[in-house]
Amino acid sequence: MPASIVARVVVTRACARARVRRRTAVTTRCSSSGSLVLARPDDWHVHLRDPSRLADVVPHTSNVFKRALVMPNLTPPIRTAKEAKEYRDLIQAAATAGAREASGEPFEAQMSLYLTDNTTEGMVEEAAASGIVRGYKLYPAGATTNSEFGVTDVKKTEKALRKMAELGLTLQVHGEVTHADVDVFDREAKFIKEVLIPLLDSAPELRVVMEHITTRQAAEFVAAAPDNVGATITPQHILFNRNALFKGGLRPHFYCLPVLKREEHREACLAAATSGSKKFFLGTDSAPHPRGAKESACGCAGIFSAHAALPLYAMAFESVSALDKLEAFASHNGADFYRVPRNTEKVTLVKKPWMVPNEYNFGDTIVVPFYAGEEIPWTVEM
Ligand SMILES: [Zn+2]
Repeated sequence: MPASIVARVVVTRACARARVRRRTAVTTRCSSSGSLVLARPDDWHVHLRDPSRLADVVPHTSNVFKRALVMPNLTPPIRTAKEAKEYRDLIQAAATAGAREASGEPFEAQMSLYLTDNTTEGMVEEAAASGIVRGYKLYPAGATTNSEFGVTDVKKTEKALRKMAELGLTLQVHGEVTHADVDVFDREAKFIKEVLIPLLDSAPELRVVMEHITTRQAAEFVAAAPDNVGATITPQHILFNRNALFKGGLRPHFYCLPVLKREEHREACLAAATSGSKKFFLGTDSAPHPRGAKESACGCAGIFSAHAALPLYAMAFESVSALDKLEAFASHNGADFYRVPRNTEKVTLVKKPWMVPNEYNFGDTIVVPFYAGEEIPWTVEM
């Protein structure tokens, strides 16, 4: 990975001193030295943003991951197979132009389309026939960035959902209700009861991924659900609890949706990720915003983590001595759920600390990355 992309600073201090600064209740244990070889991972939930920024954003992901499921919440959203094809061509061009060493398997963008009240069965058929679309993303209207086109009532999508199940497409779900009278910290748990369970009852064959789970309730629900229900888990939700949002002042770069939760929920999500269950897999939800849009009176939700995704997960897994479970979570479970071949190429994580830059280029502006200006103890060897 070239300096222009990662701009990392390799720090040669001993591992014991490379321990990442404690910011919440999380303890990151630092073993001696070592490396970890795993099958090239896939990121099953990433935001790459609009075409003018792809050249800066895509290489962070394509340098490390074989596949990435690209979210469709652009303005306007990606709603059809044709739009997905055009967007994907730009993403693939950015990946090729990026710096990933051409050592083997090329990067493959997988596309998710934006489900709306007006998604028809014909549109689903076109998506399934395209060969590049893995499914649809359900955003409850108003749930997160650019979700104003989202679904107002899941009942309006029932025909489309049944067609998706019939044709083998997967539904990716942003699992939060959006009623103003529901506390923001309770919205995920409420969504399971009010929306997800009825949805699964109406389309029992549909494969559904509850995206970026953040609560004990979601972890328990997915673990107990039938095999057609899985979940992605982000690095931030297993590394930090909600104290991180308020430590010493308001911290906009820890703000994402669903928002960070209490420590018991972080622990439950980390336990799920490291449980060995095939239902849980890697999805960073890396979501870059311009610095000014985050550091604002009304800051955007989203954490940019693509620059350090795999090392961040390694930190979390190491904190509970579960590095032996990382390969299944990062490289096997998602591929199995999406019924695509597991990757055969390998990547190596080494215990070599590096300093995250304060910023990366982001089109005509900059993005502040997760852990900006701090050391991360694991490095992906290129
Ligand atoms: Zn997302």
